[in-house]
Amino acid sequence: MSVWDDVVGQEPAVEVLKRAVESAQAVLAHDDSAGAQTGMTHAWLITGPPGSGRSNAARAFAAALQCPDGGCGQCHECQTAMSGAHADVSLVATEHVQLRVSDVGPLIGVAQRSPSGGRWRVIVVEDADRLNDSSGNMLLKAIEEPPPRTVWLLCAPSADDVLVTIRSRCRRVGLRIPPVDQVAELLVRRDGADPAVAAFAARSAQSHIGLARRLALDEGARIRRREVLRLPQQLRSVGAAVVAAGQLVEVAAEESKATTAERDAKEKAALLHSLGAQGLATLPPAIRAQVKQLEENQKRRATRANRDVLDRALVDLLSLYRDVLVVQLSGPDGPAVELVNAELAQEIAAEARHRTPDVTVRRMEAIGQARERIEANVSPLLAIEALMVQLRTV
Ligand SMILES: [Zn+2]
Repeated sequence: MSVWDDVVGQEPAVEVLKRAVESAQAVLAHDDSAGAQTGMTHAWLITGPPGSGRSNAARAFAAALQCPDGGCGQCHECQTAMSGAHADVSLVATEHVQLRVSDVGPLIGVAQRSPSGGRWRVIVVEDADRLNDSSGNMLLKAIEEPPPRTVWLLCAPSADDVLVTIRSRCRRVGLRIPPVDQVAELLVRRDGADPAVAAFAARSAQSHIGLARRLALDEGARIRRREVLRLPQQLRSVGAAVVAAGQLVEVAAEESKATTAERDAKEKAALLHSLGAQGLATLPPAIRAQVKQLEENQKRRATRANRDVLDRALVDLLSLYRDVLVVQLSGPDGPAVELVNAELAQEIAAEARHRTPDVTVRRMEAIGQARERIEANVSPLLAIEALMVQLRTV
């Protein structure tokens, strides 16, 4: 067993990180001045498509750096580093659209401190692509002059998503899309999923590990996905298309609310507690301002969660038309690649017979356009309505 076990389908990247851990061990075995000579890298950029396991890989690397055995996966150092409880490993994620100066600022101070356990101080920034100019510049200064035992692990979808000044100072490690069967195997081994459900989930999620996990463990998520895939059959008139759009937006709102509401309430209670204002009927103005700030942050986070859920639904829909196109373009022996939605093979075959590949491509383009509009802050309902009408008419 080791911390790398759950970093599935990433053998080349894991090799690079393991070698770095060995060199880090060598640095610790000598004095600090040896660090400069062996060239232990203080800033890493881990890139990979969404769901490929970037933050998982970063945590495993952090654990391996803290572990006396280079990542045994069993000792206290490994386990606390993986769970986020290690005193010398700071994990920073954001659900805001951007990482702001107020998010990054506290890290700069932490980065200057020596590790309490005497090995490394590791700071994981999960969404380095969300740094803005001011928070990015702040981080850059810290990366430029790192204390000898501080290691920065930045994660982003691709190097192009990170400010050029930052990425030029980082050593890059790229993750790839893991194979479907390895993702399924991970869901069985790590999450105790049923093998058949895990295979379905990994295939439906197109190897996106986080989505596959949710599909494998949450029946509600499986039902919602099926509803999304059934939408195209309901588009018999413009009126029906508008109704379908409304349903989709509503389902997305419900799902994102379910995921954020509980945490929102906890955060608010914790804030009131820390301000000593629990149970007060009327809040003093200074406290009211802080509560208002928190509520505004939560509202922004909810907007983002809502857009993410909607985008996922559109990716599911896209996978359906991708399957139709695969069937339309395949020869008499049938499709050469596996369908993402194999359980809908009959419906997909029928759709493929009734339309031309040209129509399918136009529909896929319409979905891409809707995703871009939502990303650009167009009202989700407007963007989805326009999409549903297009899917009906093209
Ligand atoms: Zn260990």
